Amino acid sequence: SRPITAVKLVLLGEAAVGKSSLVLRFVSNDFQENKEPTIGAAFLTQRCVIGDQTIKFEIWDTAGQERFASLAPMYYRNAQCALVVYDVTKPASFIKARHWVKELHEQASPNIIIALVGNKCDLVEGEGNEQNRKVAKEEGEQLAQEENLVFFETSAKSGLNVKEVFIALGSKIPSN
Ligand code: GDP
Ligand code: MG
Repeated sequence: SRPITAVKLVLLGEAAVGKSSLVLRFVSNDFQENKEPTIGAAFLTQRCVIGDQTIKFEIWDTAGQERFASLAPMYYRNAQCALVVYDVTKPASFIKARHWVKELHEQASPNIIIALVGNKCDLVEGEGNEQNRKVAKEEGEQLAQEENLVFFETSAKSGLNVKEVFIALGSKIPSN
């Protein structure tokens, strides 16, 4: 049978950008309108077949509140992958995402594969909703290009691009 590659993945980003909702969509194909905030961190796993590889994502979903920020290194220290999430309607969350990318490049494993994820794009789609967008897609693309990140805009609510983020990260994991 096929070998299974375990991949440690950490989610980082400001509180309420939708980190836990992205994980819930990926692991259970579900969404909750009023998701309770994560305390500390949550751990979940999900298997995923990518090409000829089976990857078992070991997912650490961290709390975004400042009072938990000092714990983040515990979760990203040995991570092979990171999702840095912001909310496309919240410019402060994009600034926070920049800081997380910088911290990961300085402190995490030098080979870490990082995805920059602009979530809640359902809120900016459709006629009359464009004024809700506060972070241009081009800003995300530019940061991703500068810092060598995988980039997606997602919606945990609709499911748009959620699986795609994990597959893009998983397909960058060298097979052994
Ligand atoms: P976290 O603190 O980053 O883990 O964020 P949560 O996953 O707890 O989500 C915070 C709030 O945003 C909850 O009320 C979610 O239902 C909502 N939310 C999360 N993702 C989306 C999304 O893609 N679109 C919309 N419209 N709301 C979302
Ligand atoms: Mg959470």
